[in-house]
Amino acid sequence: MIDNATLLIAIAFSSAALMIALLISWLNAREDSYLMSWAAGMAFVVVALAVLGLRDGRYDTAIQIGAFSPLLSGMALIHLGSFQFATASQRRTPALLLWLAAMFSTNLTFVLGWSGPATALLNIWCAVFIALSGRYFWQARRESPLQMIVSVVLFGLTSLSFLACAIALVVEGNLVLSAPPNNWAERFNSIMAIIGLTGLGALGLTLNQSRVTRRHRDEAQTDAMTGLLNRRALFDRFSLGELPEQTAVLMFDIDHFKQINDQQGHGAGDAVIQHFGNIMQRGVRKNDVIARIGGEEFCAVLPKMSIEEARAIAERIREDFDQHPARLLAESFPATVSAGVAIAMAGETFSVVLNRADTALYKAKRQGRNRVAGSPARSVA
Ligand code: GH3
Ligand code: MG
Ligand code: MG
Repeated sequence: MIDNATLLIAIAFSSAALMIALLISWLNAREDSYLMSWAAGMAFVVVALAVLGLRDGRYDTAIQIGAFSPLLSGMALIHLGSFQFATASQRRTPALLLWLAAMFSTNLTFVLGWSGPATALLNIWCAVFIALSGRYFWQARRESPLQMIVSVVLFGLTSLSFLACAIALVVEGNLVLSAPPNNWAERFNSIMAIIGLTGLGALGLTLNQSRVTRRHRDEAQTDAMTGLLNRRALFDRFSLGELPEQTAVLMFDIDHFKQINDQQGHGAGDAVIQHFGNIMQRGVRKNDVIARIGGEEFCAVLPKMSIEEARAIAERIREDFDQHPARLLAESFPATVSAGVAIAMAGETFSVVLNRADTALYKAKRQGRNRVAGSPARSVA
């Protein structure tokens, strides 16, 4: 069997490698502060493990404070990183207060010479930091269920192994320890430390990678000016197969937009486009799909609609835009929009329904603009 000191030094080396990987990831994405918190947490854990590995069997106050202060700081930073990762919050105060409480209560008990209760307290604080990290991951599990739930299990088992160490110490009931604790719980804890640190480190890195990939994909699908889907994303969503019957496709095109650009400048034109994007967003339901598919052309796909309902929604958006002009500084830019509406019939693909909505839109333009036209149902030959 490997002796405890060798085991601790080995865990320190693997933690150091993980810290470097986290640091490199952070250098590539500095806005992701959780990577820095995790890397700093691992650095403290490495220091703690090195001190514990090199202590040579001693268990005096200097060793206890020298090893356990960095250990608690590392755990607190890992806890902070998990909070930042799962909640995207920048709040640091609760984590800081928890760290202060852990440092104060544990170190004070060590200084008073009660190394038994102090070591139990240390283990309880580690269990708390890790359990809370698991809880944040659990609350955010929808993001990547499999990886997050495996992480939660690892956090849970690692937390339990620290709790077991505390329980073993309480059961032994020694006020003063003359040597580092050495029992079944400590061995369980060492094994869980290896599995937990490396497993969670690797999962943290893959979760970060999935997040980066998702961010790039979202950027590729989003129209930067309005924040709506872009043309490619809309076609990707609906290009396969037939559209379900009773799906409404609404096409909007801002009227005489060239004049707005020519007379009031491109800045005004951009403001009108952004404003219409907002009006569309507030005019549809949460699960409807809306996109900017061209310069001043927009499309909405609304499931489960009758032609009357779809026309009413298009009419509401048209009227909202007509009555609430875009504003830029003190100026306002009145504009109108025309719309074409079509409802998918059995067997129609998205591009067929979109074409019918487009034909209806041009009918609205011909009839004088600032109006909604519906596509007639396909004539049966
Ligand atoms: P109609 O009523 O028939 O739709 O007339 P229109 O002037 O709106 O005609 P059209 O749709 O051909 O004009 C679209 C113009 O939109 C042409 C192009 O210069 C302008 N445009 C396209 N993309 C942008 C953009 O991102 N910003 C601005 N400011 N203008 C844009
Ligand atoms: Mg146009
Ligand atoms: Mg136009």
